[in-house]
Amino acid sequence: MNIIPYGKQTIDDDDINSVVEVLKSDFLTTGPKAKEFEEKIAEYCGAKYCVCVSNGTAALHLSSMVLLEKEDKVLTTPNSFLATSNSILYVNAKPIFVDICSDGNIDLDLCEKELKKDSSIKAIYAVHFSGKSINQEKLKYLKDTYNVLILEDCAHSIGAVYKNIKAGSCTNSDISIFSFHPVKTLTTGEGGAITTNNKEYYEKLLKLRNHGTIPNPEIGTWHYDMKELGFNYRLTDISCALGISQLNKLDFFLQKRKDIAKRYDEFFESIVNIEPLYSFANGSAYHLYVVKIDFSKFAVTKKELFLKLREKSIFLQFHYIPINKQPYYKALGYGNESTPIMDDYYEKAISLPIYPKLQFEEQDYVLKTIIEILNGR
Ligand SMILES: *Cc1c(COP(=O)(O)O)cnc(C)c1O
Repeated sequence: MNIIPYGKQTIDDDDINSVVEVLKSDFLTTGPKAKEFEEKIAEYCGAKYCVCVSNGTAALHLSSMVLLEKEDKVLTTPNSFLATSNSILYVNAKPIFVDICSDGNIDLDLCEKELKKDSSIKAIYAVHFSGKSINQEKLKYLKDTYNVLILEDCAHSIGAVYKNIKAGSCTNSDISIFSFHPVKTLTTGEGGAITTNNKEYYEKLLKLRNHGTIPNPEIGTWHYDMKELGFNYRLTDISCALGISQLNKLDFFLQKRKDIAKRYDEFFESIVNIEPLYSFANGSAYHLYVVKIDFSKFAVTKKELFLKLREKSIFLQFHYIPINKQPYYKALGYGNESTPIMDDYYEKAISLPIYPKLQFEEQDYVLKTIIEILNGR
């Protein structure tokens, strides 16, 4: 039996050919393919500018350098990959963890409570968890009312829409970031991108991606000035060629994910004590398909289910271990926030396999096996 992971890339011959073409060309790194990839992402998302970078974490780091200053307070979610809040720490700013809603996204009503209490809060870092957009009207309301900066972490949500607002369009935000890690909907191997409609941010991001330097042709075509400390966070043309080829198939990838999500939804309709995280959402990019299992009603614990599924070649994952409860964060004084929804969610949630190449027979095998193990068979 082949291993069935929770997520996996889809690479076809056209992807391979586009990479080989670059390898035979003059530019291996940040050349014409990077520019083309950036233009295509900006166009797809409906944002003015895009800067591609070496991974999603680099995208978050540079965004935090642009948006935040030392000691700034940022509302964010415990239900994300570490990088979201780590990027706040990178610039010596201060994450404040806010509980989630029943759909796994940060609770914007609780964010408003925090903003009312403390007018010095600088920003909200929100994740469109699993690919389902957070409430954009509420986001706009918070931005307009409390003059707070918004970063959308779209690592799960390329292709997601909320009432015609595309993820990454920055319609109600200052900056959006993407990751193109192989487990995400679209991959460049490692890779990431930042979109924005703010020209000043865009120019600063370009500079920071390349050691903080800008060309100075007044002195000479060879000359560059470094006025601030940046990094090498460039993305290669090899990766970008793969990204362009993947982007051409994104709508197909999204449809496949939706087809799989629909089948899961239909299956769980008749099962008690197992609930999809949310009922079918057409606008979701379905990077993850999460179900909440009430383990107190079944024969095994969450850990036992995880281990027994591994024996059957099914490799699930938990998204996510609450960031504020990580040892590093605990040492900084975090971990005692009141997050009852997140706590309950983490006890119950597992992410089921969802990726374009997952066969319906494999999906059925996963479901049958889970039910058998839960019932102690
Ligand atoms: C994957 C991911 C990141 C980090 O992206 P990398 O490309 O792995 O650095 C950030 N935030 C979220 C929500 C992610 O899922």
